[in-house]
Amino acid sequence: MLTAAFPGSFDPPTLGHLNIVERAARIFDELLVVVAENRQKKYLFSAEERVALVSSLVEPWKNVSVALCDSLIVDFIKKRNIRLLLRGVRGIGDFSYEFELSMMNKALTSSIETLFMTTDPEYFVLRSSAIKELASFHGDVSTMVPPLVAKALRDKYK
Ligand code: ADP
Repeated sequence: MLTAAFPGSFDPPTLGHLNIVERAARIFDELLVVVAENRQKKYLFSAEERVALVSSLVEPWKNVSVALCDSLIVDFIKKRNIRLLLRGVRGIGDFSYEFELSMMNKALTSSIETLFMTTDPEYFVLRSSAIKELASFHGDVSTMVPPLVAKALRDKYK
């Protein structure tokens, strides 16, 4: 059984995240999407809201599940016997950050391997922070996020 964990803030989930989920679900037997809650970070959506959004969106994939993590990701997945950590990369900027993160995770837990999946070209501009900014000005985000998320953003910025 090949199981991978795909961690992130998902604040909110975008079509870019779902593209990674869709492609990873075809590669791995099981995929666990890990919604991270970091007390140092400020989120627009609460942990419960992010888990609810991601859970609804991954419903079509029977081998994809969702968990909330408020501790170190490497500890969290190791406890679940998952050795593969999947991260999406949009470009060099993402890669240099992700590379450093993977080095830190490797130093913390050498048995865990980080795998990078490049974005499909049509999603490379999608970034949760930019989408939130656009939504805060009531801009059209319908080509960037699923309808469920577009509605959640409208409700937040009403
Ligand atoms: P974090 O706050 O940990 O960066 P994000 O929710 O922003 O979490 O992203 C989770 C993962 O999804 C990260 O690996 C990120 O690089 C990846 N990701 C985000 N948007 C895209 C996209 N448009 N295409 C590919 N990967 C993406």
